[in-house]
Amino acid sequence: MLTNPLTKNIGAEDAAPDLEAYRNNDGYRGWLRALKMPPEDLIDLVQKAGLRGRGGAGFNTGLKWSFVPKDRQAHPIRYLVCNADEMEPGTFKDRLLMERDPHLLLEGMAIAAHAIGATSAYIFIRGEYHLATQRLETAIAELNDAGLLAPETTGADQTLRIYLHRSSGNYICGEETALLNALEGKRAIPRAKPPYPQVSGLWGRPTVVNNVETLCNLPHLLLHGADWYRKLGHGEDAGTKLFGASGKVNNPGLWELPMGTTVREIIEQHAGGLKAGLTLRGFLPGGGSTDFLGPEHLDLPMDYDAIGKAGSRLGTGTITVLDEATCPVGLVLNLTRFFARESCGWCTPCRDGLPWVVEILQRIESGAGEIDDLELLRQHTSRMGPGNTFCALAPGAAEPIQSALKLFEQDFIDHIRGGSCPFH
Ligand code: SF4
Repeated sequence: MLTNPLTKNIGAEDAAPDLEAYRNNDGYRGWLRALKMPPEDLIDLVQKAGLRGRGGAGFNTGLKWSFVPKDRQAHPIRYLVCNADEMEPGTFKDRLLMERDPHLLLEGMAIAAHAIGATSAYIFIRGEYHLATQRLETAIAELNDAGLLAPETTGADQTLRIYLHRSSGNYICGEETALLNALEGKRAIPRAKPPYPQVSGLWGRPTVVNNVETLCNLPHLLLHGADWYRKLGHGEDAGTKLFGASGKVNNPGLWELPMGTTVREIIEQHAGGLKAGLTLRGFLPGGGSTDFLGPEHLDLPMDYDAIGKAGSRLGTGTITVLDEATCPVGLVLNLTRFFARESCGWCTPCRDGLPWVVEILQRIESGAGEIDDLELLRQHTSRMGPGNTFCALAPGAAEPIQSALKLFEQDFIDHIRGGSCPFH
């Protein structure tokens, strides 16, 4: 039984299968099956399979599609947008999928477009992803030349057009409504919700925004069915996922593993454990905007709810390991500098708060901090919490700081009392 649907075409060589090779290995069969299904049945199948969005939020994909208005006459124009603006610190999973199996993504997009009735689809790709862009351009041209997206194949009134749009380079474009603004040529700031994009998205039309990895799950889900897909997971969540590990581990990288694989298995078995002489102090489970967890959480399954109950988020599923020889204050400062630079500037707690937090962290890290700075940090980051800002960037930026203040408070105090960084 197939257990690695996302990476089955990815070999040791840095190459991507062309259309012929992809089709010779079951490629586009899932899509052809989807075309025989009424869209409502397709949406129902994906919902029942339990595919949750792999961009970080973990929302049920079929449920998300179901919010698109059913009345196609009243809403004849709909859009599908693939969010390929992967910029979360420590995350590089979508890049692998796009560089090494671009047709898998295009097939997933064709399936999603059929489900929601879209005849135009956009891939909004991170500007620095040059190789992925090049390989996707080649794959789209192959598809068009072969006429696979034409009405004769799809049964739709119009050819499905897939366009590639390169981001001009802001982290905020990963937020789906800021992405839609950027795609429309406007300033990339998040929109007020409701209305949600499924009802009023790109140019005011019903729009679904799905992450690269989410879409790549669809071809094999269609080919092998919802039961098969659910059983791929080890725990509560269905399917497989690209999990990753970075930091001072022996073998940093990405691996396709069942949902529910434990943190310990990812770090010790797949990443080869920490480098000689180092021990683990904590980890960010799903990118730079998640809360630190400690060694007592190593046996947690990497599932959305299990990680959530432990006080963090599964996020992108790419783990950043913190070892005993690395300064947690410096690590948090580095992350916060990134988020402060990437703020879109729309709301005050983020635009002004994050630079203040950077200044306080810099002061502490350099040994010039005061003990009152810890309370100041807590106050500033609580003002960035959910409900106080227009989007999730600032609350996400606050998470590693707040959790570091809980788990590694003594390190902050040692910097202040010692007048320098004890790790230098
Ligand atoms: S939280 Fe930050 S990124 Fe989000 S809207 Fe406000 S200023 Fe922009």
